[in-house]
Amino acid sequence: MYLCDLGTEGTAIVDTGVRVSSELTVEIDQILKLNRLGPITYILLTHRHRDHSGGLKRMKQIYPDASVVAGEADCKINDGGQLVINEILIDIPVSSISGTVSRPVSGIRAVALPGHTRGSMIYISEKSDVTFVGDLVIGHKKYLARPLRRANEDDALYLTSLRLLSNLTSDIGAPGHGYVVSTDFRARVAELAALPRRAFNLVRLIRGLFAFARLRFNR
Ligand SMILES: [Zn+2]
Repeated sequence: MYLCDLGTEGTAIVDTGVRVSSELTVEIDQILKLNRLGPITYILLTHRHRDHSGGLKRMKQIYPDASVVAGEADCKINDGGQLVINEILIDIPVSSISGTVSRPVSGIRAVALPGHTRGSMIYISEKSDVTFVGDLVIGHKKYLARPLRRANEDDALYLTSLRLLSNLTSDIGAPGHGYVVSTDFRARVAELAALPRRAFNLVRLIRGLFAFARLRFNR
């Protein structure tokens, strides 16, 4: 999860984690105060997976005035014909057609980069020049990695999106898991995107899973 300063428009929360604890909301309040940020006005979801949207319901109870932004292909349609994720109304659904750029919030460029899920989005902050990439890349301490092929809903589409990301991203990348990359993010994504998917290898799979699990302890 990240907080993103939107200046006079307030503050956005990027993704809501698996769940929202009271410690977390205390921490959000502290960060807002310490950095003199405006109130939470938007919740930007990179994609619908539970570890990114599980806390949405609770977050919406805490910040009822925050508008929720998400890719429309990740939404379900409820009985009332509205777009929802985890039963929560998506106030600003954005196009999920690959490469579509929109401006759902002043100061935020959203780009549809489907494949990991059908509605995966990245959000680029014009103020801080940070790109929030969700699970398009995973930020290990010394390298970037792709999600497992099986973790992607459409791996071929995902690989196309990763190549697009290297052209569209700013040079600071904030992955949904792991470390923020504060230099050369664009070049590093291009390098990653050029690597072919290799044949299945159990040892590499287990190593990858352990490396991913370790990122849980990185704040
Ligand atoms: Zn995911």
